[in-house]
Amino acid sequence: MHIETLAVHGRNLRSTTSGDVAPALHLATTFARDEEGASRDGMVYARTDTPNRRALERSLAALEGGAHAIALPSGSAAVTALLAAMPAGGRVTLPGDLYFGTRHLVHQLGPRFDLVVDERDPRDLVAGESRLEPGPGLLWIETPSNPNLDVADIAALSSLAHEAGRLVACDSTWATPVLQRPLSLGVDAVVHSTTKYLGGHSDLLGGVVILGAESAELAESVRRWQTVAGAVPGAFDCWLLARSLATVPLRVLAHSAGACAVARALESHPRLERVAYPGLASHPQHAVAARQMHGGFGGMLSIVVEGGREAAFEVARRLELFTRATSLGGVESLVEHRASVEGEGSRAPEGLLRLSIGLEHPDDLIADLLAALHG
Ligand SMILES: *Cc1c(COP(=O)(O)O)cnc(C)c1O
Repeated sequence: MHIETLAVHGRNLRSTTSGDVAPALHLATTFARDEEGASRDGMVYARTDTPNRRALERSLAALEGGAHAIALPSGSAAVTALLAAMPAGGRVTLPGDLYFGTRHLVHQLGPRFDLVVDERDPRDLVAGESRLEPGPGLLWIETPSNPNLDVADIAALSSLAHEAGRLVACDSTWATPVLQRPLSLGVDAVVHSTTKYLGGHSDLLGGVVILGAESAELAESVRRWQTVAGAVPGAFDCWLLARSLATVPLRVLAHSAGACAVARALESHPRLERVAYPGLASHPQHAVAARQMHGGFGGMLSIVVEGGREAAFEVARRLELFTRATSLGGVESLVEHRASVEGEGSRAPEGLLRLSIGLEHPDDLIADLLAALHG
């Protein structure tokens, strides 16, 4: 089935006696047993399993082409669940450009899980200019990356990591399963912050780890972290997210077309040092992006304004259709000065503004940006 069909038909609970066409919201934290003490449908206690979470996990696994999906209360909780599943004494290798929160989290918590954390530029690994320490652990991929929109070659990195004895996780939040399927390119675990495009309306927090059928053991470890440590999303967030999944293929294609139009319109603007968008032929890894992404290059782009921090702030202040706020993937366009949001330790260029292109008409967004840049 095509992803549009899966998105609509994967979400129904189909277990209701009333024939609800829209999924019901189940708030129960505990479930009655029959006279022999057996649970119905495996539901015992809400930390272990709930009807809304189970339905959501099935939908998410189907969308990503995986066999196991473990829903967590945030993207960061999904990263933590994977760290917790790594063997003690292993190594986690991060790329240079990635979501600031993930870098912070892995450096802070990695050692608590007895993991050694290091960093490698994925391009150097693929070019053979640096290599992974052999041994157990994880290679972390994030593509396209935050905030530079670097594109990592998922298939090449996955085989390098497997040769070194590592597992591979890919944070595919910015691409979504609509545009990119890391499991089909050799990755062991896909991570999403469902707070972003999968939720799509800036009104829920969530995360998920999705794995293929061959990763049953790793899936079991992540599941243990979810249910034993209690890293569970609430019923309403599961319900909201399941509702949003029906429209994710349409939304992501529209976000993507909008971002592409904006990137092209700004590409040779004299006040910009750089427009980072994987769909532009000028992007250094455009060929890799074209090979591993399908249907578009995502709704995110970064622009680097000439004149650094003050000039970037001035442009952000002048924008009328872009709300100055962090996060991404909602229906409304957002602009963010990444260096000041990340604060100390940020590697983002001072002139960089990150744009999350919403579902407004791209011509209106372009006019707003051109007016703000014209000053
Ligand atoms: C937002 C984000 C995260 C963290 O997700 P939360 O839901 O905020 O915890 C991780 N990775 C990427 C790429 C993100 O954009």
